[in-house]
Amino acid sequence: MHCPFCSAQDTKVNDSRLVANGDQVRRRRECLSCGERFTTYETAELVMPRVVKRDGTREAFEEAKLRAGLQRALEKRPVDTEALESALERIRQQLRASGEREVPSMLIGELVMQQLKQLDQVAYIRFASVYRQFKDLDEFRAEIDQLAADPSSSRTGH
Ligand SMILES: [Zn+2]
Repeated sequence: MHCPFCSAQDTKVNDSRLVANGDQVRRRRECLSCGERFTTYETAELVMPRVVKRDGTREAFEEAKLRAGLQRALEKRPVDTEALESALERIRQQLRASGEREVPSMLIGELVMQQLKQLDQVAYIRFASVYRQFKDLDEFRAEIDQLAADPSSSRTGH
């Protein structure tokens, strides 16, 4: 770490502590050449993959968009904000864990459906009907029948 005052390379860390709920490390440093002290903050870089849309165009992953989609599906459903935030976090984790630089938007839709299926079946059906664009009413009904026939699916999600 170069000293911001004299650009010397040797700086000493006097103190390290976790800040921002453990998401950041704050270090107090001292330059061994000029004696100036300064502080650095380190945050792990958690890069989200870019999203490849159906038409082949790419866009940045937008969490706000994802949250809005979940909220729309969960409107007036008995699911609290905390559960929604945990679902969002699981989707983010899965995307990061994929290690891919780009993921198809379809994959994100599938991850959302997995989460909604566990949270609330009405919300799941709402989202799936828009997302999968069921070809006809029979296909839609088949999906509902499948859910009704397998009540454990709401708990296991697999
Ligand atoms: Zn210095």
